[in-house]
Amino acid sequence: MPPVEEWATFPFEGDLRPRPLEPPVERETPRHGAGGVDCMRCSAGDQEYLWTNERWRLRAFDRPSGLPVVLVLESREHFAEPGDLSDEAAGELGVLIARIERAVRGVGEIGRVHVCRWGDGGEHLHWWFMARPARMSQLIGIFAAVWDDVLPPLPERVWRANLATVATALSPGTP
Ligand SMILES: [Zn+2]
Repeated sequence: MPPVEEWATFPFEGDLRPRPLEPPVERETPRHGAGGVDCMRCSAGDQEYLWTNERWRLRAFDRPSGLPVVLVLESREHFAEPGDLSDEAAGELGVLIARIERAVRGVGEIGRVHVCRWGDGGEHLHWWFMARPARMSQLIGIFAAVWDDVLPPLPERVWRANLATVATALSPGTP
């Protein structure tokens, strides 16, 4: 095992060993919705989202997970990469990321809002917002995304209240 298991933030203990590294595949595996074909995010209705505007939509998942808030920001139109955005849309995205981060932090007792972009599952451009609870030092850093699946899910009532706080902060007229 690499020394990662010595990190206080590593979510697991006991006997673990890395999987053997497989050789490269012949070509990259196509991502879901590649090229906008049969893309679930393109075909989703606005009712599936917590907040929307003309060019962007923000969604939560259909059930709570371990972290207090986990959201995904998507472009309304199908883009694959941040670099495919026009300068205008990229500028808008920057402002929006800041607004959403602030709204999530407004839930209270949030130690950090991780803003992440992987995009190796579905191609449709999306950004993750993962809120780490304050003062839970084991959850600091990159394993927060793994802890989200390791921890028991938030009580439904608390989760819904957190999402409502974010939606209110993002609604028009809220400074
Ligand atoms: Zn799409």
